[in-house]
Amino acid sequence: MNPFSFHNPTRLIFGEDQLKHLENELSKKLNILLVYGGGSIKRNGVYDRVMAHLSSLEANVTELSGVEPNPRLSTVHNGIAICKEQNIDFILAVGGGSVIDCSKAIAVGAKFDGDIWDVISRKAAPTGALPIGTVLTLAATGSEMNAGSVITNWETNEKLGWGSPFSFPQFSILEPSSTLTVPKDQTIYGIVDIMSHVLEQYFHHIDNTPVQDRYCESLLRTVMETAPALLDNLESIPDRETILYSGTMALNGILSMGVVGDWATHNIEHAVSAVYDIPHGGGLAILFPNWMKHVYQENPARFRQFAERVFDIDCPQKSDEEAALAGIEALRQFWQSIGAPSRLADYEIDHTRIDEMVDRAMLFGPFGNFKKLQAEDVKSIYEASL
Ligand code: NAP
Ligand code: FE
Repeated sequence: MNPFSFHNPTRLIFGEDQLKHLENELSKKLNILLVYGGGSIKRNGVYDRVMAHLSSLEANVTELSGVEPNPRLSTVHNGIAICKEQNIDFILAVGGGSVIDCSKAIAVGAKFDGDIWDVISRKAAPTGALPIGTVLTLAATGSEMNAGSVITNWETNEKLGWGSPFSFPQFSILEPSSTLTVPKDQTIYGIVDIMSHVLEQYFHHIDNTPVQDRYCESLLRTVMETAPALLDNLESIPDRETILYSGTMALNGILSMGVVGDWATHNIEHAVSAVYDIPHGGGLAILFPNWMKHVYQENPARFRQFAERVFDIDCPQKSDEEAALAGIEALRQFWQSIGAPSRLADYEIDHTRIDEMVDRAMLFGPFGNFKKLQAEDVKSIYEASL
């Protein structure tokens, strides 16, 4: 494995009835910006519970609601303006990955002298951040315990991932029962996103990573064992708990110790979402198997291991190529079996804007670590996904 240094400063507070810890994590009488989405937290009672704790803390609360799925730069700008005008001390994000990602950009933007888009688009370095904490209500992104954030700029049709050591949440509170109301489609997208995060870190060429490999394989197998039961009974707290914990473990840095992830498929998906505003997990379900088919020849043995260990595909009689293709097909079939989309046509996307998506994906040049993708590679992955 590669040399590494690991640091994750987020305090993870996990389990039923843990929201009460808000009162240990926050000082009294803070000036808080409460960030949330389109209203799910009002319908499922999480908002009222959070407000009760903030009121015991005598917090002065300003609200920023309406954060979009695929959060927009315009909303980030609104949040930064509020922080500066109201002298906000702390940002509390309550919702899914979009709310958390938006809050990270607001937090960094509030301490940046200039337009936050320059930080997101890597033209400028961040200079600090307001502290943030999160109450997560949807298992998917891992944003609750990482420094990453993804923001869409609809003026330029760009959806960019960025991150900084300043953008880790100070704490995140995860109660499985707060995810019970996540609808079936979002639950499926979350499951695909979690598995995709593991896959992005599993496909590499680095030698001697047996612990990392088994962590990844075990997470993938656990999510695949749990997903069908959860989708049959969306109100199963034990299954919600397993998926919630898997989501955090998939992208809090632990799987990446000593390895370098690929992340090409996330970049390719962001370029689709930037043009068509489709759900992130839906896009990944379509694109990941096609990325795999495009790149497996770089290291067929790695794909054989994936087929054997994740899908129990019996490979002795098979060539590396046959085994690799069988594993890829098994993944595609699993995602189809849980109701994930499998073609861009499922979102009424055809070839007309492929070149635009390729341009978006290539913004920072060739990308991906398992295989460096050029524009023609990206185009052919999109074409195979139509
Ligand atoms: P999301 O966009 O935060 O939420 C999707 C939908 O689920 C929203 O309509 C939201 O409604 C609803 N929802 C959330 N919690 C709910 C609950 N408990 N009950 C009912 N509905 C609920 O979904 P996400 O998958 O977590 O985040 C997706 C974004 O994260 C994308 O932009 C993606 O690119 C990004 N991403 C970030 C990372 C990272 O590391 N930072 C990694 C992967 C992806 P409300 O708006 O009403 O709350
Ligand atoms: Fe993701």
